Amino acid sequence: MREENINNEDLWNIILGELELSISKASFTTWFSNTSIHDIINNQIVVNVPNVFAKEWLEKKYKKIILSSIQKYYPEITSFLCQINQAPPKINQTKNIDSLKPIPPQTITTSQTQEQLTQQKSFPQESFQRQLITPPKQNDSFISNLNTKYAFDNFIVSSNNELANAACQSISNEPGKNYNPLFVYGGVGLGKTHLLQATGNKIQEVHPHFKIRYSSMERFTNELVDAIQNNRAKEFKNQYIALDVLILDDIQFLSGKEKTQEEFFHVFESLYQLGKQVILSSDRPPKSISTLEDRLRSRFEGGMIVDVEKPDFETRLAIIDQKLHEKNFSLNKEISEYLAKNIYHNIRELEGALNKIIVTFQFQNKDPELEDVITLTKDIISVNHQKDLSPNKILEIIADYFNLKTEEITNKCRKKNIVKPRQIAFYLLRSEVDMSYPEIGKFMGGRDHSTAIYAYKKIKRELSLSDDLTNQIKFIKEKLVDY
Ligand code: ADP
Ligand code: MG
Repeated sequence: MREENINNEDLWNIILGELELSISKASFTTWFSNTSIHDIINNQIVVNVPNVFAKEWLEKKYKKIILSSIQKYYPEITSFLCQINQAPPKINQTKNIDSLKPIPPQTITTSQTQEQLTQQKSFPQESFQRQLITPPKQNDSFISNLNTKYAFDNFIVSSNNELANAACQSISNEPGKNYNPLFVYGGVGLGKTHLLQATGNKIQEVHPHFKIRYSSMERFTNELVDAIQNNRAKEFKNQYIALDVLILDDIQFLSGKEKTQEEFFHVFESLYQLGKQVILSSDRPPKSISTLEDRLRSRFEGGMIVDVEKPDFETRLAIIDQKLHEKNFSLNKEISEYLAKNIYHNIRELEGALNKIIVTFQFQNKDPELEDVITLTKDIISVNHQKDLSPNKILEIIADYFNLKTEEITNKCRKKNIVKPRQIAFYLLRSEVDMSYPEIGKFMGGRDHSTAIYAYKKIKRELSLSDDLTNQIKFIKEKLVDY
């Protein structure tokens, strides 16, 4: 059962799982995407990072926390280093095309035409569009970014993801035919990436010659910005337009990025017109992506929209079994049930807990007891329970959703854009936490209980009349459980 040692990939996933709990989500994504263990040698761990920024940050800022995390498994490791991994080139830093400044021409090479030079002086965006006129050119060094570990075979289907799974399966058989674009949305760690990747892998299997590209929207944006800066915008866009299937993950990242949306629209439109399959995922439905261009929203809504929800207890158990099977490890029923019962917010956390148990017990050569597991997963489980709602969390999430400060919601300001979020806060405090009206009034800036009753009833009544409000509240509630 445990003859295999834990590999570096699993070990790093565990360390990342711990880090994710202790630093902000934005920092985590910025600094830890595309990292991996390069080697562990002479009490030193060497980590691959995509660029010099990540190297500096990890070595300066995160060294201590990474070491202390890894020392739980390898106490002898005392030193930590990063090395920049050149291939494949990945960009880790969030870039924003909207803040891009034109760069002056630097070296003039013989291959640069007069026209290109003139374009360089203008805003890169314009040159980008003009360059599009030439037909797509095949690209020799094609990267699909598909990861074969994600398949339909190892994806557990239940009522929470049935529809999404069926849509993806159908697309795999006939890409570009029925559901185009396919838009999959749902909370963090609920299997969106798994499904998207599985679809890409299946299509590739059926159509080995297809050019399929998987990318996160963040990466697409970063590469686009880079391409524009380096005068490679045409190649970049042509690469995308020449695809047979485009899979873009986490497109909520488009929110507020007008220029990226514009460029993405052109790519999308070209593929769509050619009947090429586009598959998108997001943490929220198109309606709830704020500042999304109308033409994009209506394109997304014109395709098929499916959601993935949280799995129930039985499904969580089935997923645990599946993951144990993949990792060639077993746990007794009591332990599996303990994990499935207590880790319910997302599957990534569940997997993190399993990895932690496996790593620990692979070395100890003894079967884990429930008590060991309770101790080992204490952090993860307490975070799960903490996630059970507090009034402050509700306020924070509402404020975040409406782009306000929490104080603006609780103070007495009567501005229209604040009154509605405030009423929603009253409503959710009543419906989602066990608080009395007087308690809610007090919590919401010392108001009278009658105000709380009024606001609650008002929203409740409006809910039956307004789809927009229903969607807003549904989305906020989803965020509440994901937090
Ligand atoms: P998301 O993209 O929605 O944040 P992921 O697809 O990355 O979530 O899923 C997180 C982890 O949980 C992945 O390792 C994935 O394989 C696993 N997972 C999610 N849903 C399922 C499922 N239904 N069956 C098996 N594994 C799943
Ligand atoms: Mg994902």
